[in-house]
Amino acid sequence: MNDLPLVAITGASSGIGEAVAKRFSEAGYPVLMMARRIERMEALNLPEALCRRVDVRDRAAIASAVAEAEAVYGPVDMMFCNAGIARLADIGRQDPAEWDEMIDINTKGVLNSVHAVMAGMMERRRGTLFMMSSIAGRKVYPDHTVYCGTKYFVHGISESLREYLSAYDVRVVVLSPGIIETEVLDHVTDPGTLAAYRENKAKIGGGIGPEHLAELMLSAYSMPQTVLVQEICMTPTRQRY
Ligand code: NDP
Repeated sequence: MNDLPLVAITGASSGIGEAVAKRFSEAGYPVLMMARRIERMEALNLPEALCRRVDVRDRAAIASAVAEAEAVYGPVDMMFCNAGIARLADIGRQDPAEWDEMIDINTKGVLNSVHAVMAGMMERRRGTLFMMSSIAGRKVYPDHTVYCGTKYFVHGISESLREYLSAYDVRVVVLSPGIIETEVLDHVTDPGTLAAYRENKAKIGGGIGPEHLAELMLSAYSMPQTVLVQEICMTPTRQRY
């Protein structure tokens, strides 16, 4: 066991969360990995990693996974509030059940993740929260209506949390990526929206790998605690909107 602090990641079973778990683990950090597909996280077989089946809509389940990991590795010094789904669709024909799901996971799930570690960070007067928004939290797309709403929510609470937590020396970093190659499109059920997204993506030569974002996050996290990278906005060079 080394003396690097514990990092916690929601949505660590694929895509960006998985890439961040791998990169921080490679850098020597113990990692708490949370998602519903526990077998995917366990298959990575990372050293000093605790994998827990957690649905971020379940506030108690996140708190319990954090308590379990902290008992082994000490306090969580970084929480990546990353779990999210993108049910991109034409709002005029989208089933409102998809709104509920996105709002519960992408907004309340993020708050639940913050809640599990915030008091401890304030008490210790150190810690870093990485908040997963999107380029869709900076600008709207007409076929991403509710998804954009959830990501604007993340931008809004992050800015407020950053001001609130600055007095406690806790850092809040917003992530606003553009198109990253992950499994995110698997959750789009509207064929028209999916086809348009794929066409745009193909036109710009595809998305970028999640490992680039993971690298920048490690770099921002490794800055002295007095230095805050407030936002990371990373897109493919050819992505115009
Ligand atoms: P993936 O679909 O590959 O990963 C999503 C992750 O979130 C999975 O690990 C999934 O795990 C987890 N997750 C989803 N719902 C829940 C839940 N209820 N409880 C716990 N975990 C959950 O996509 P990405 O890596 O792309 O997505 C990660 C984040 O990045 C999302 O918030 C997304 O909105 C955001 N984003 C992605 C962009 C992209 O282009 N890829 C661009 C901008 C932002 P499991 O299903 O096992 O629970």
